[in-house]
Amino acid sequence: MSRLSPQRPARRVAVVGAGPAGLYAAEELIRQSRHDVRVDVLDRLPAPYGLVRYGVAPDHPRIKSITGSLRKVLDDPRVAFHGGVELGTDLTRHELLARYDAVVYAAGAAGDRRLGIPGEDLPGSCSATAFVSWYSGHPDARPPLSLDTERVAVIGAGNVALDVARVLARPVADLERTDMPEQVLAALRDSAVREVVVLARRGPRHARFTPKELRELGGLDGVDVIVDPGQLTVPGSADPDRTAQANLRALADLAARPPLGAPRRIALRFFTRPHRVLGEHRVTGLLTERTHDGPDGAPQGTGDFTTFPVGAVLRAVGYRGLPLDTVPFDPTRGVVPNDRGRVLDTEGMPCPGEYVTGWLKRGPSGVIGTNKLDSAETVALLLEDLDRLSGRQLPDLEGLLIGRGIRPVGLSGWARIDSAEQDLGATRGRDRTKIADWPTLLRLGRTDHPVPVEPEELPWPS
Ligand code: NAP
Repeated sequence: MSRLSPQRPARRVAVVGAGPAGLYAAEELIRQSRHDVRVDVLDRLPAPYGLVRYGVAPDHPRIKSITGSLRKVLDDPRVAFHGGVELGTDLTRHELLARYDAVVYAAGAAGDRRLGIPGEDLPGSCSATAFVSWYSGHPDARPPLSLDTERVAVIGAGNVALDVARVLARPVADLERTDMPEQVLAALRDSAVREVVVLARRGPRHARFTPKELRELGGLDGVDVIVDPGQLTVPGSADPDRTAQANLRALADLAARPPLGAPRRIALRFFTRPHRVLGEHRVTGLLTERTHDGPDGAPQGTGDFTTFPVGAVLRAVGYRGLPLDTVPFDPTRGVVPNDRGRVLDTEGMPCPGEYVTGWLKRGPSGVIGTNKLDSAETVALLLEDLDRLSGRQLPDLEGLLIGRGIRPVGLSGWARIDSAEQDLGATRGRDRTKIADWPTLLRLGRTDHPVPVEPEELPWPS
């Protein structure tokens, strides 16, 4: 039996970010029966699904199919999608807080960590984040590398490193079936890359790969995977945990496979840390130092340096959250300071009505499902606080946006983008081909909104 009280007005919650963390938060908010809640989901992009759309590798369609269940959240009449609306640009934190009983920040971690070594900004050196955004058809992305080189170094021993190594090395025919934009496929077809060297600064038992992703490498047609068996047995190190044991088994299987002289190869090298990206006008090599695992597991340099002749360097050393307008932010960790999801101010006190979830709450770790639990924790606290929060008559968001000439992309606008991408894919025998440019996304997405008044005709609220 519902515990809703009929005379109470519906509580209004804004969720900033339409990725998995934000949509799981919206789902939690409408699933409960304690409060009647309406949820507005805002995203700076005209398309929902965040990292599922713009981060999960295109050759992982099973993970991408999570969009099916996320779509059900957006379809709920108590949830409204407002794409193309950016907090900090289109409206401020205080304007948002004035319009909702509570706000949940779920903007993820759009930035990337840096190596902090000389040469990192040379042409030919970029973050995996930029490369992933480009092959995923993110409308802000530009080609970050020219693939006119035979050998590429990927720095990092996480799943993103494996994603980019796979995309660079696997036959483009395998990627033709994916949703990659046509211009990305064209660049990959012309790619000169023959070898991708993945460099891990620690030993295999400290790698952050997951066993499934490692095993997947062994199944790639046309790719030899090279692992030195000598790097897998390190005397004296602590007993590995279950994931590390499974990783070691997967690596041993890869190491036991003789190379077949395949057209491309992925080499996994451990105990190798980057020291300097070499080159004058563009990347020509990478100077690395051999390491061993120290007693605390941290990599220790040995003073033994090697130069890898490579034409490109991709750093896959982790994502990083970015600040959102004036929302409290910890620049060291790249997260919004919080207590289990309640946003904390500089004094460590909760900011009433403000919550955070996902990578912006805990940092860039875990799989997509991790965000479900994370959002459940945040929303449980929000619901606990909701009786104490506002409940007053609130001005609506639409009035503010219309006054500024901002036309959000609603669910029907997204549906048009979605079907245009499916139509485009069908012309090439695929399920979908991503549309990657802002003008087309906005033209498709905004058709159902009234013609706006030009912003310069309006008084800008102070
Ligand atoms: P990650 O798992 O945190 O791995 C980052 C790697 O970079 C680690 O090996 C780390 O080594 C290394 N690193 C950090 N700083 C470095 C430096 N200065 N020099 C050299 N190496 C450095 O991050 P990620 O790969 O970006 O993945 C983020 C999250 O998304 C993870 O939870 C991941 O599992 C998930 N993800 C999952 C999938 C999938 O399920 N298929 C795909 C992609 C991503 P240390 O350990 O020594 O610090």
